[in-house]
Amino acid sequence: MRSVVIESPDRLVIEQRPLPEPAEGEVRVKVALAGICGSDVHIWHGHNPFAKYPRVIGHEFFGTIDATGPGVDPARLGERVSVDPVVSCGHCYPCSVGRPNVCTSLQVIGVHCDGGFSDYACVPARNAWHIPDAISDRHATMVEPFTIAANITAQLKPTPDDIALIYGAGPMGLTVIQALKGVYGVKQVIVADRIAERLVMATNNGADKVVDNSHQSLEDILNKAGIRPTLIVDAACHPSILQQAINLASPAARIGIMGFSGEPCTITQQSLTSKEISLFSSRLNSNRFPDVISWMAQGKVDPEKLITHCLPLEEVQAALTLFATDQRTCCKVLLQMHN
Ligand SMILES: [Zn+2]
Ligand SMILES: [Zn+2]
Repeated sequence: MRSVVIESPDRLVIEQRPLPEPAEGEVRVKVALAGICGSDVHIWHGHNPFAKYPRVIGHEFFGTIDATGPGVDPARLGERVSVDPVVSCGHCYPCSVGRPNVCTSLQVIGVHCDGGFSDYACVPARNAWHIPDAISDRHATMVEPFTIAANITAQLKPTPDDIALIYGAGPMGLTVIQALKGVYGVKQVIVADRIAERLVMATNNGADKVVDNSHQSLEDILNKAGIRPTLIVDAACHPSILQQAINLASPAARIGIMGFSGEPCTITQQSLTSKEISLFSSRLNSNRFPDVISWMAQGKVDPEKLITHCLPLEEVQAALTLFATDQRTCCKVLLQMHN
């Protein structure tokens, strides 16, 4: 079978590997489609602190179960599944409080262990979530990216009366917009980004108002309009954003951050405490696959609005480069393995 292997930083090869056999408790997934994410590019270029090499990348993938390991119900053969990349121990403190995404021995498929940019991948059976026929293959591949939005919104608890501000109209920002509008019915969602084409995508994904903050001050625009966001999500993940978000926020607002920068960001206690701001952080997803599968089955979110490209596995290097360099026309890129 073919596997996309990052041998060491900046060295990507498509390697022929033997077909893997599922171990106890595992299923083998014949991968149909996989999605490209920023973290795949980071592992390729050696910018992911968790990655070990060589590594088969890819943590957003969909396919069918074509083999089951010992202890797994053989009735699952042929099942359409999307794979949750979060592999957890099940008994540490975070696992015991329903937060397997920060398990003390967390393994992320495609980061800590081999992933889905491969013709076949063996994964724990409980990580392979059944996809109903009502959800297309393309949309099923998008379940994982929507779980990122599901995880942060579950923490922020949006209400229809919220005035939401989202920084960044990349895949994370766009899925958050769709969740806020389609799932939670938030009446006003404002999106700030520095790329005009991204703001068009934000509008297409449901944003009520967009602000290009490349040449105008977001602070001025919101102040002039008398807008005090009650819920803010930093999906641009730059360390400079948090203090501005705190300044812009309404008293009693909630702010969610998802960035992984190692750079310090300077904020004052006074700016947080004087408004009693609640600060949340979110990483990956904690058992959000069932939520997102039901959102998609009910048509509450539309993954098609994010998918701009689909390329065959052989073109993985071009696909990763396109994703990393062309933010004007490219949003989500899918890789096709099998039909
Ligand atoms: Zn991802
Ligand atoms: Zn654990």
